[in-house]
Amino acid sequence: MNQKSNPNLRIPGPVPIPEEILDLVGGQMINHRGPEYAEMLHKMTDNLKSVFFTKNDAYFITASGTGAMESAIANTIEENDNVLSIIIGVFGERFAEIAESYGGNVTRLNYDLGKAADLDDIRSNIRSINNLKAVIFTHNESSTGVTNKLEEICQIIHEESEALILVDAVSSAGGIPILVDEWGIDVVATASQKSWVAPPGIAMITVSKKAWERSKKIKTPKYYFDFQQYEDYLQIGQPPFTPSLSVMYALDFSLEKMLNESMIKVFKRHKDIADYTRKKAKEFNLEILPDEDVASNTVTSIKLPKNIDGVKFLSEVKNKFNVILGGGQKSLTGKIFRIGHMGWVEKEEIDESLIASNTIIRQITK
Ligand code: PMP
Repeated sequence: MNQKSNPNLRIPGPVPIPEEILDLVGGQMINHRGPEYAEMLHKMTDNLKSVFFTKNDAYFITASGTGAMESAIANTIEENDNVLSIIIGVFGERFAEIAESYGGNVTRLNYDLGKAADLDDIRSNIRSINNLKAVIFTHNESSTGVTNKLEEICQIIHEESEALILVDAVSSAGGIPILVDEWGIDVVATASQKSWVAPPGIAMITVSKKAWERSKKIKTPKYYFDFQQYEDYLQIGQPPFTPSLSVMYALDFSLEKMLNESMIKVFKRHKDIADYTRKKAKEFNLEILPDEDVASNTVTSIKLPKNIDGVKFLSEVKNKFNVILGGGQKSLTGKIFRIGHMGWVEKEEIDESLIASNTIIRQITK
């Protein structure tokens, strides 16, 4: 039994923060309207653009990932706009709800949980909607461990329409490749507590020229999430509102670290640990929920045997092994468990999680 004081936190975010970053989080406050902050903000903005391979604008917003998603909608959707929402899980449904709350006329394209979106369906749905203003979807659906084929989806949207492409990349960005300029993505939304290895509290977005044009044309009321606030203040090296400084310190460090390692290596590292997780899970005869070709490189969903009480399973894994796994959400509650492997993850942490899961499954099915 593992009696470490720090649990092996294997939920799909917030990810555990290494000591060197925790020290930064504990750093003293600075004047967010002073030169020190300006220097950090400009450097971080450049670094964020590099991570996304983009020349588009990029901003830091003090909010969780949902704030970044709301900013994408608030700046580009107005009352009665036709929006296609591709939904493969809980977070896709959330994006649709946000678009509806801003008056969007949302067509939902739903998939069974554990499946990725089908490219032909997307094409035919785009063709069937007149005056389509935006296509919104989740890149990596954390609730099912499925990654949509982002490049291919973007290509189809560009072939078939002039619609804006708004992507929830909360649990993929920084771990799975996103080539914003090459794939022509208008707004990408992500958040600090995922592959960025920082505490929760800072959302990040990129904004294309086309998204800017749309934001200037529409009349949707907005304030805190108005792109223009972030742009105007960036020009003077400031945030529009008091930022979560402690999280910014951590994120500054992580961004540098990722780029020093090189994004190619960061993505490869995520793929390697995901492959390792799936291989090990299969060795224990555990069944992965999604098909191999769409299984996520940041979170693995594993089916629980039918006769197992999912709540008891999670609590036994925690109490006996000090491993904290993600459970299933909504209709997958009690049916799957999830192992997060975003950020800096060691094979030993995966081994420990799978040994714990397998042992408890065998104990409670006896
Ligand atoms: N989208 C995805 C894919 C997510 O994984 C999450 C967080 N789990 C969110 C959106 C929402 O982010 P937050 O909880 O930071 O608002």
